[in-house]
Order: sequence, then C-alpha cells, then structure tokens
Amino acid sequence: MRFGICTLDEFNLKGKTVLCRVDFNQPIDWENDALKSTARIEAAVPTVKEISDAGARLVLMAHQGSDIEYENFYCTRPHAKVLSELIGKEVKWVEDVCGPTAREAIKELKDGEILLLDNVRYCSEEQTLFEMKLNLTHEQQAKTQVVQKLAPLGDLYVCDAFAASHRDQPTLCGFEQLLPSAMGRLFEKEYVVISELMESPAQPCVFVLGGSKISDAFIMMETVLGKGVADKVLTGGLVGNILLHAMSKDIGKGSVDFIYAKNYEDYIPKAKELYEKYSDKIVLPLDLGYVEGGERKECTLDSVPAEIGAIDVGSETIKLYQQLIKDAKTVFVNGPMGVFEEAPSEAGTKAVFEALADTDAYTVVGGGDSVTAAKKYKVTDKLGYVCTGGGALIRFLTGEELPVVKALRHAGKVFGPEKK
Ligand code: ADP
Ligand code: MG
Repeated sequence: MRFGICTLDEFNLKGKTVLCRVDFNQPIDWENDALKSTARIEAAVPTVKEISDAGARLVLMAHQGSDIEYENFYCTRPHAKVLSELIGKEVKWVEDVCGPTAREAIKELKDGEILLLDNVRYCSEEQTLFEMKLNLTHEQQAKTQVVQKLAPLGDLYVCDAFAASHRDQPTLCGFEQLLPSAMGRLFEKEYVVISELMESPAQPCVFVLGGSKISDAFIMMETVLGKGVADKVLTGGLVGNILLHAMSKDIGKGSVDFIYAKNYEDYIPKAKELYEKYSDKIVLPLDLGYVEGGERKECTLDSVPAEIGAIDVGSETIKLYQQLIKDAKTVFVNGPMGVFEEAPSEAGTKAVFEALADTDAYTVVGGGDSVTAAKKYKVTDKLGYVCTGGGALIRFLTGEELPVVKALRHAGKVFGPEKK
C-alpha cells in the first residue's frame, strides 16, 4: 500500500478478471477514424502489459471526449488499434459499454486476453456526472447501471487514469465500493512523484506558468505561492499578458481586446491582487513578441506599438527565464510562453523547453499543450517527469483530496490487499 491505496504488487492477477479504468482521451482525426496523438495510450502500456502478462483477463474502460463540445466525442475503436500496435498483441474491441454484447465479450475472455469497451461516456450516468452537473456520492455511483452490470463480472478494479482522477464519475469512483481495488502503475508513478515534489521540492523551486487556461493558472499560482512551495513564478502567454495589463502596463490594443473577447476580464482584479501580494516572487515578461506581416517583431514594455497583439515573450524575457531555470533545483512548467504552434511566435516556448533540457534541476511538465511542446522541441526524454493530467494535477496542488484517491482509499480500507 502507498498513501493508503493498494498497488498491483498486492494482488495475484492470474486468472482474474480485472476491470481497469484508463485515460486514453486524445484529439480525434474524424476523417481517418484515428487519433491525433497517442501519448496517453503509450503512458498506460506498462500497466496493460503487466496485468495481461500476469495472465489476467483484462477489461479496459475509457472515455473519449464529451458532449460539451462534440469535437472529440467518439468511439474507442482507434484506441484499441493503437494499443494493439504498441504492445504487439491483439486488443479486442466491442461496440458496447455494459450491455449484453459487452458482458458476453467479457465472459468469453481467456487468461491474458485484453478487451477495450466502448466510450464510457456513452452511458448517461457517466456523462451527466461530467463537470458535476449531478452530484452522486460514491455509494450512489455504485448503484449506477455501468457499475451494477460490470462489477459482478470482475474480481479486481484497477484505476490507472490519474489524468481523470479529479472527476467524480461511476467508472472512476463507483467500483471501489464493490470490488478490491488498486491503482495502476501510471497512477502510482504520477501520484508519488507529485506528492513528493509538493512536500519538499529542492530549492530554488521555479514555476513557469503560461498558456491560455487562465483559471487553472491563477489557482495554481495562488496555491504554490500561498504554501511557500514556489520561490519564483515566471509568467508568459495569456497569463503574463493579463498580469501585465492588471498592473497597468501597456501590452497593445490587440492583446487587451483579446482578453475581453475571451471574457477573461474577471481575472484582472485577481491578477492585480496576486501580483501585489507576491511581487517579489511573480516575474512578469520584460518584453513581448508579436507578428506583423507574417514576421516576428519584438518590443520592450515602454515602447509597445499601439495596435499589436502580443503572442509571445521577447528576447530579454527569454534570457532572464533561461538563467532562472538554469539556477533552479526544481522547475515546474504548465502552459506555453506563446502561440508556439506558429513559427514566428514560438521563440519563448522553445527557449523555455530547451532550458529545461539543459538545467540540472528536476523538471516537471504538465498540461496537454505543454506536453505537445516538449515533444515538438524533442526534449521529452530529458525531462524529469511529464504529467499526463493537467486538471488533476492542479486540483492536487490545491490540497483537495481527489475523488478517485478517496475512492481507492475506501477500497483499501474495506477490502484491503490480497497479499499482505
Ligand atoms: P496546457 O495545455 O499546457 O495546460 P493551455 O491549454 O493553458 O496549456 O494553453 C495552451 C494554448 O495557449 C496554446 O494553444 C497557445 O497557442 C495558447 N497561447 C499561448 N500564449 C498565448 C497568448 N499570448 N495569447 C493567446 N494564446 C496563447
Ligand atoms: Mg491545453
């Protein structure tokens, strides 16, 4: 047991039917019935292999997208194909989640075989609970259809979906009421690394916060500064622009209009309050990058051309951030410094990730786009730890007990480990 949660070491897996919740959620390429990235599936491979190689009958449950946007709300067929290629072994797929077809396919599994069920968010209860439109206790979640139909077929529940561990939904929190449960290897790794990092990070500890998910960035900033975990917070991206604007710095009309167009003006007072409280720790960009006529241009904060929209940090900022990352002992990055997807506005993000590859500090990168940036600049294997989950990580940092952690601890207490 670690942190009151059972691990795979504590169960005999041979011949057992293991119901394992993974996070395979990826951007979808509809035209080709394929995935645009396979990072999350790759991350789950060690758990999948270990359970299957041990001779268990492995049933995988996963979600893909949601009805909030429909952009990525899709079946899990491409995921089965990708997983099968990655592990070099057949992964069966069934177009059903917990109906008769799915249950029949589970019963037919032989030792070592793997079956991926269809998108669990096709089940109404999983979907309604998304974003907590409905609040069900974990006891109530155990009474939902998906748990009631599948739990009797399983001997053990495993959750390897750390990236979804902030969600309070039946396939994540319901099975733990009825079955002995363990965390998978990816969950274990992510949870342990983050717990240790937050308890006593080697100092100086530098957070680099950028990107466009403003609420997450400000929650994180407030938490790590409030707890005294961060010695410095380097800001960039839209986060940096909002802080600069809140402190009455000129960032150009285009940048300000963008903040209002995105309805982020509510964060301006918060940004001001945070900066005034922690002005010795929050580092603002010294200069900005923007694009004019398809070309990159830069300006210092005292000479910002009237109409520009800043979409990157400038060279002076880059130099400063590179030095601070070099001198740090722990560096945590969430959110890019600019619109790194386009060449003229990638310099800030590229420089930060190159500095991460060079520093002796322990480096952690979290968030979907940040992980993409690490790949783009080919530094992934030089990083200390790449976290698949942004949302879960942020909620964890705030000190909240994650719903899945709570559910797994419950199972640890009630059913305990099999091997003592
Ligand atoms: P992550 O996924 O790593 O948590 P976010 O989702 O918060 O990061 O932000 C990533 C997005 O922010 C990228 O698509 C990037 O283009 C965009 N971005 C970065 N800087 C700016 C900026 N100054 N203005 C607008 N968008 C930005
Ligand atoms: Mg993102």
